[in-house]
Amino acid sequence: MLRVPNPSTTPPPSGGRSPLVAMVGGGQLARMTHQAAIALGQRLRVLAADADEPAAQVTPDVVLGSHTDLADLRRAAAGATVLTFDHEHVPGELLEELVAEGVNVAPPPAALLYAQDKLAMRRRLAELGAPVPRFAPIETPADLDEFAALTGGPMVVKAARGGYDGRGVSIVDDVAAARAVVADYLAAGVPVLAEERVVMRRELSALVARSPFGQGAAWPVVETVQEDGICVTVIAPAPELCAEAASSAQQLALHLAEELGVVGVLAVELFETADGQVLVNELAMRPHNSGHWTMDGAATSQFEQHLRAVLDYPLGATTPLAPVTVMANVLGAPQTPAMSMDERLHHLFARYPDVRVHLYGKGERPGRKIGHLNLLGEDATDPAKLRERAESAAHWLSHGEWSDGWDPHE
Ligand code: ADP
Repeated sequence: MLRVPNPSTTPPPSGGRSPLVAMVGGGQLARMTHQAAIALGQRLRVLAADADEPAAQVTPDVVLGSHTDLADLRRAAAGATVLTFDHEHVPGELLEELVAEGVNVAPPPAALLYAQDKLAMRRRLAELGAPVPRFAPIETPADLDEFAALTGGPMVVKAARGGYDGRGVSIVDDVAAARAVVADYLAAGVPVLAEERVVMRRELSALVARSPFGQGAAWPVVETVQEDGICVTVIAPAPELCAEAASSAQQLALHLAEELGVVGVLAVELFETADGQVLVNELAMRPHNSGHWTMDGAATSQFEQHLRAVLDYPLGATTPLAPVTVMANVLGAPQTPAMSMDERLHHLFARYPDVRVHLYGKGERPGRKIGHLNLLGEDATDPAKLRERAESAAHWLSHGEWSDGWDPHE
């Protein structure tokens, strides 16, 4: 879905010079954005803490430094067409400072706030009339008791800032457990909120992009499968999601991008409740795990789209290239296999010639996201087989063992 206000007035991107995009963070998202930048003849500079980080390994333009140090951020932004992010952890005050100095920050700090602070996000979304789980800021133990009395059920306690991949999120069964979690946060001076625990059928994600010019683009809504707070599998499009629900989730995401002034990719993480409602869980303003399938499964990948959006180019088509795409994350196994990753890759390609692999150049540690893979399929009504293949392939790359005992020599 593409929305174009008036293409004839689209300004030229950068006066003929090849743009330099600076990205804060040297992780896998920056690494994959770099791949897209190469194809567009652009340069991507990354601000990385270490030369060994996934993106720092592959781009020649690395600024080593910290995303919480203004001088380092300035060095990263110097001469860049735009400064953007592969994570949301840069303090807003520092970004405001850069904006005041004339740096083009995308998404702007006023929008990014809603991806940095879960409490600010919940409040703003509620104001905008977006469906969200019931929530309350918790400043004292009494606030928690009051919220528990109101919702009367199991809760989720969240640190307002700093969490990711389920860190900073505690799913608790009763008020006593919630009290203990809250006491720890309050003692550490961490702002915290409580939410009702949503009884959900599954998690979805609506991924969109918005350019400063006001163009919007939405990919099909996907299903995200989480384990221990980490996204492990994505099915695109979400199976059995009716056309109206899919379209209204896309519209909601485009509307939020517009209202919040997002520039770049916006992921709207959603809960589909057991009774069929769709609630917003959280927002990410950067390429997102739920969009990795677009690298092989859509006309324009989220990484290219993010570049186009932050540079105010016309956005690319979001059309899927196959009826269904399954993405599976490759997570570090509890025990790193003796077989090298390179050898595992050999075996994988022997079994699955159609698999598309993306490895991040990271060391293997238990549970760490070290890569992902995509498989494209023809039957959107029955993605189970494709999902099984994708998960088996990812399990092999992680563990060096076939979950179904497959033996190439038999
Ligand atoms: P993070 O910022 O770490 O991604 P999230 O707020 O997305 O944290 O929460 C992580 C996971 O915890 C979600 O994907 C979901 O599975 C679960 N979760 C979060 N909030 C709720 C809720 N209100 N009800 C039920 N489960 C929740």
